[in-house]
Amino acid sequence: MPSSSEQTRKTSMAIWRGLKCRCPQCGQGWLFHHYLEQVEHCAVCGEPLAYYRVGLILPLLVITVLGHVIGLVMLEMELRGAGSPLVYLYVLVPLAIIVPLAILPSCKGAIIGLLWAHGWSDEQDR
Ligand SMILES: [Zn+2]
Repeated sequence: MPSSSEQTRKTSMAIWRGLKCRCPQCGQGWLFHHYLEQVEHCAVCGEPLAYYRVGLILPLLVITVLGHVIGLVMLEMELRGAGSPLVYLYVLVPLAIIVPLAILPSCKGAIIGLLWAHGWSDEQDR
């Protein structure tokens, strides 16, 4: 039986705070030590965050977003007549490297926010 505080957690707010790489509860503390290293507890409110593990959902989400971005760019380039192999090499290869690196922390934060909002942690496994 979830407690009343768990019931009032707003999923969209938690995901939004996670997208900003912030604590899903208070929205002020950082979710990550470094690039993708998750903190044990929020430095501001003390919420335990270490048990929310994203697993294989993160690469699935990043690949899905990246596939749509690359696909739209390729379609746009073909429609404009700029679809040569060299342009693909100079535009799409850097894009395929930069976009995932840029969106990884936000995607991981959003997934942590979703897990936190629903209480889906692996704390019971320990
Ligand atoms: Zn917090």
